Amino acid sequence: MTERSKLIAAKVEAFVREVVIPYEKDPRVEPHGHGPPDELVWELRELARKAGVLTPHILEDGSHLTQRETATVLRASGLSLLGPLAVNTMAPDEGNMYLLGKVGSAEQKARFLDPLVSGRARSAFFMTEPASEGGAGSDPSMMRTTCHLDGNHWVINGRKAFITGAQGAKVGIVMAKSDDGACMFLVDLPDPAIRIERLLDTIDASMPGGHAVVTIDNLRVSADQMLGRSGEGFKYAQIRLSPARLSHCMRWLGAVTRAQEIATAYACTRHAFGKPLVDHEGVGFMLAENLIDLKQAEVMIDWCADVLDSGALGTTESSMAKVAVSEALMRIADRSVQVMGGTGVSADTMVEQVFREVRAFRIYDGPTEVHKWALAKKIKRDHLKPHA
Ligand SMILES: Cc1cc2nc3c(=O)[nH]c(=O)nc-3n(C[C@H](O)[C@H](O)[C@H](O)COP(=O)(O)OP(=O)(O)OC[C@H]3O[C@@H](n4cnc5c(N)ncnc54)[C@H](O)[C@@H]3O)c2cc1C
Repeated sequence: MTERSKLIAAKVEAFVREVVIPYEKDPRVEPHGHGPPDELVWELRELARKAGVLTPHILEDGSHLTQRETATVLRASGLSLLGPLAVNTMAPDEGNMYLLGKVGSAEQKARFLDPLVSGRARSAFFMTEPASEGGAGSDPSMMRTTCHLDGNHWVINGRKAFITGAQGAKVGIVMAKSDDGACMFLVDLPDPAIRIERLLDTIDASMPGGHAVVTIDNLRVSADQMLGRSGEGFKYAQIRLSPARLSHCMRWLGAVTRAQEIATAYACTRHAFGKPLVDHEGVGFMLAENLIDLKQAEVMIDWCADVLDSGALGTTESSMAKVAVSEALMRIADRSVQVMGGTGVSADTMVEQVFREVRAFRIYDGPTEVHKWALAKKIKRDHLKPHA
């Protein structure tokens, strides 16, 4: 850990614990809704701005903390489910900012990235398509949304699903297929050609704007709004994917750390059969197993962050980390609920929602099975590789 990341993380943690956590009881927060309302997002961001903790992983000169440093800061922001949206480290914006910073032209950065970094706009990433229509999901090459050049404009048509934050977003990154292959476009939102059909009622509820099903109907974007080059969209998706899936691990590690704190406080104060719950081995062991899983998740994240910091794409490592961490977080959240009995499944604490949030995380940014399948393919490839 570097001195600067220690300092930033400490500031973020203090802000989340002192300012953000009290907001968890704000009546505008609906534990089963479509994410906190934007009014609350902007209110919290103003407070974060004043406290000097807004967009803490991107420095004044536009450079990013290293992945290893980011891990410490994002974990601190995740201690409350409202933390990442308050300090602007939330998904999908954090991943979109990273991608734009890497691939965007100077003009694109000024127009689309700057409002995101300043915390004054939200964004959405449009890749997945409705399963019922056989569109892109685990297998993005099944993409059905099309784009074709018409003069100096691209025309995009298709339907998308599970688009986090599309409702209320100002910036969109839309994926579509041209004759060359996958493409990415930067679009201003809202746009009448991008129609939100409905918000899905999902198990999770922490992301502003919820998850939308969207129709894209003859969307016209000027050629200079293409991110990078035609046909290279999946290459750019790869640039985004490894760090983005790792940053989910970082934030959710913060959330389950807090769940463990709440479950520990419960087990140490609640009595049954003549002694505190923690003194019953069945409960004490659950908390002990949580502690072990928490440390293993942290170490796995740091290891993968180091790989990314070395300049490697980290595809294999981020698959391994995503599986190990998301599965560990699920176990921790489940044990935290169990330790707390009925209170654990009520919305009286954030533990119940953390359980639902990490359940969804085992699916997005690559379901566990898809990562294991990709790892198995690599194992076979490596085994069959002729040895020098
Ligand atoms: C809360 C949430 C937020 C999301 N946000 C976004 C977003 O902002 N933008 C966006 O574009 N998408 C988003 N998604 C979509 C997400 O990326 C997809 O759900 C994910 O890629 C899986 O695709 P699918 O749902 O179509 O599942 P499918 O492709 O239908 O797969 C279903 C299941 O089949 C299994 N499976 C698939 N392939 C294999 C394989 N090769 N080997 C073994 N098993 C396999 C897995 O268990 C998988 O869970 C979000 C999803 C959720 C749940």
